[in-house]
Amino acid sequence: MEIAIIAHDGKKAEMVQFLMEHKSILLHKNITLVSTGTTGTKAEKSGFEVLKLMSGPLGGDAQIAARVAEGKTDMVFFFRDPLGIHPHEPDIFMLMRLCDVHDVPLATNPATAELLLKAISFS
Ligand code: PGA
Repeated sequence: MEIAIIAHDGKKAEMVQFLMEHKSILLHKNITLVSTGTTGTKAEKSGFEVLKLMSGPLGGDAQIAARVAEGKTDMVFFFRDPLGIHPHEPDIFMLMRLCDVHDVPLATNPATAELLLKAISFS
C-alpha cells in the first residue's frame, strides 16, 4: 500500500509527530511512503524510508496528484495549513479533486489520518 504524505510548513511538526506516534504500523505493515520534497526530508530524519518527489511549490503536489490518477497511491495524508497562503493553491485543489475523482482516502488533519491508519491496521 502506498501512502502519500504532504505537510505545509505550518504543519510539518505535526506530521513528524504523527509519523513517530504511528511508527510501528507505518514500518511494519506493507506500506510505502511517498512525499513532497521537504516533508520527505523531515520524515527521513525521523527514520522513515520515503520516495521523495519535488517540493510542493515546485510541483510535488501535482506529482502526487498524478500518482493518485494513475492508481499508484492508495491513501493521502495531506496536513494543510488552513491559515497560510500558498502559491501552489491550484495544485493543492487538483490533488484533492483527483482524490475525490478516484475515490482515494484523503486525510487533511491528524485526527482523520489516525482513523484511516486504524482502519488499515484491522485489515
Ligand atoms: P514540501 O511541500 O513538503 O516540499 O514543503 C509541501 C507543500 O507545500 O505542498
